[in-house]
Amino acid sequence: MQGAEPAAGVLYLVGTPIGNLGDLSPRARQVLAGVDRIACEDTRRSGLLLHNLGIKTRMVSFHEHNQAARIPELLTALEAGEAIAVVSDAGLPGISDPGEALVMAARQQGRTVICVPGPCAVTTALVSSGLPAGRFCFEGFLPAKGQQRRQRIRELVSEPRTLVFYEAPHRLLALLEDLLAELGDRPVAVARELTKRHEQQVGPNLSAALSHFQSTAPQGEFTVVLGGAPDAERPAASDSELRLQLQQLVASGLSRSDAARQLAQHTGLAKRELYALLHSGEDQS
Ligand code: SAM
Repeated sequence: MQGAEPAAGVLYLVGTPIGNLGDLSPRARQVLAGVDRIACEDTRRSGLLLHNLGIKTRMVSFHEHNQAARIPELLTALEAGEAIAVVSDAGLPGISDPGEALVMAARQQGRTVICVPGPCAVTTALVSSGLPAGRFCFEGFLPAKGQQRRQRIRELVSEPRTLVFYEAPHRLLALLEDLLAELGDRPVAVARELTKRHEQQVGPNLSAALSHFQSTAPQGEFTVVLGGAPDAERPAASDSELRLQLQQLVASGLSRSDAARQLAQHTGLAKRELYALLHSGEDQS
């Protein structure tokens, strides 16, 4: 059973709604009401949320531009036994929002850091996209400048996992155009206004999504979920690379059979072939 929350000297990362106020959890409410202060990305915005909840906890601003000065102050307060919550404008602090540097510093000083989980646009968009969600790769916001953005996209060309991007409405068309030009017409689900009244998923591929947003100007908040590289775009691993991976799995404690099964799941290759490869390696040594 969990002790009473919030506890003294603990840093809480509290997830807040990404649109629908009903998504704030009772636990988040309890922690926000009980901590000594709340570090907010934007005190006006969080002030509205807290006002709606009838919470009067002291707020301090904590954002990209003042975090270097704020972190030592918050660490001193934690050391003195204060319970502190961090919230961003929406979703989980630390996901394309301030929080990460404070968590690193707090952990380095041996402080307890606890996340009170809540909505997050990455996972919300991913699980409703219809694309594989078992393995995914979150890229956040790509660079705003065209050349740098396209370079980052080229680096992802053979990434087999489902890709998730955040994008501002005024750059959505440019992102979709670049993804189409660099990666081809892959399956996509462009999630718009998640958890809100006008929630929408636009797809099923990049060309269709692009043509939709060319005729309907993008408005609201967007998370783009894109299919990973098709098999043909993935460089095939050589036998010796596969054998090495198998040997490493065996060295880590797996049986030969389990090593072959695990690598088969990751590569889509037949378990029996991988098992044979492991044995052929032994014949050579
Ligand atoms: N920390 C937040 C989280 O956990 O999702 C993300 C903050 S980031 C500054 C804001 C971006 O997240 C938006 O530009 C958009 O790409 C995505 N996003 C946030 N809310 C969204 C929503 N309701 N629908 C779709 N995307 C959203």
